[in-house]
Amino acid sequence: MQAVDGTLNLDYLTKIRQHLHKHPELSGQEKETATYISQLLSEDFGADQVIQGLGNHGVAAIYHGKYPNGPTILFRCELDALPIMEESSLRYKSKMPGIAHSCGHDGHMAILLGLAQWLQYNQLNWGRIVLLFQPAEETGAGAMQVLKDPKFAAISPDVVYALHNLPGYKKGEIIVKEGPFTLAVNSIILKLKGKTSHAGEPHMGINPAVAIAEIIQFTQALNQPDRRQDDFCIFTPIHAFFGEKAYGVSAGHGELHYTLRTLAEEEIRKRTNVLLARTHQITETKGLELEVLYTDRFFGNTNAEEAVWRIRQSASTLQLPVYELDAPLAFGEDFGAFTQKYTGAMFGIGAGRNTPALHNANYDFPDDILLIAIKMLVSLATSYMGNDTLT
Ligand SMILES: [Zn+2]
Ligand SMILES: [Zn+2]
Repeated sequence: MQAVDGTLNLDYLTKIRQHLHKHPELSGQEKETATYISQLLSEDFGADQVIQGLGNHGVAAIYHGKYPNGPTILFRCELDALPIMEESSLRYKSKMPGIAHSCGHDGHMAILLGLAQWLQYNQLNWGRIVLLFQPAEETGAGAMQVLKDPKFAAISPDVVYALHNLPGYKKGEIIVKEGPFTLAVNSIILKLKGKTSHAGEPHMGINPAVAIAEIIQFTQALNQPDRRQDDFCIFTPIHAFFGEKAYGVSAGHGELHYTLRTLAEEEIRKRTNVLLARTHQITETKGLELEVLYTDRFFGNTNAEEAVWRIRQSASTLQLPVYELDAPLAFGEDFGAFTQKYTGAMFGIGAGRNTPALHNANYDFPDDILLIAIKMLVSLATSYMGNDTLT
């Protein structure tokens, strides 16, 4: 695909990627990143329209085809970095102590900007391309915020796509799967309130310790860790405490924090109800008050058959190896909120067998997969829209 190579300024895109790496911002605080991206899109990459402030700091660039009819295809990437202290000697190492782009979202932004750069010089025949730079992916909040934003109604995509770089796979390998691609995740906080008493007279109070131990044992028995089976389910205990380090006092309150992972959305609801039913039983028997809170919710990505077919076609045109997953990836990714609502798919692009894992302190997005990833998006876009200049 000579036209893609000819149009792109990879050196510039790499510089942008490294600039983003050096200036990471946490979920929900991506103000500077959003301003920088908006400026690039309108000043350097000739977007027809740039929408700012989508679901807080989200940015969307729109590119129109020559004729107004045709579908709207949305490509999404993420703006946020992680609360991780980067360990590296990179020239463009994070300038923000304790914050790093350890998930490669800097790379994903550069990939979408690469598609923007290509679209600037290669107007599609019809339809619209929307490039969405989404905030707060890592907390699972951003996708829903964008979808709920009234400004998003004007975008109304027909098909949605996202990619994630995946260390542990060969560089440039395209990782696909129909149906569940990433897991449905919910985080559950159980707050137990009893009654303090003198440590010498624990029977005079209501100490939540035994209830917490019983709930932990109960959830262990519910786990089915094989992701290839429909009834896959993992309750992971994340954090727990009761009382204070006050040795004269028998604890009167405690908390138990879990993440729950399943394949399907309805399984998340079912399993949460099983946990809650048993927890209510345990706390009622012991006279404890129970409060339940939820956080960090990731909807499962469900990949549509046709969208995955197009991904395979694009990979084959570009002569890229395709890796077919037999089980969904083990993490949650909030693009699931999009694929629950719209037809589309997420796919992986291999980031190298020996590249450190995502969220590791020494991870860095490999710039040498930028071109392949951009070509994949160009190929997907043109598979819907047509383009006369493509060779
Ligand atoms: Zn991440
Ligand atoms: Zn990520």
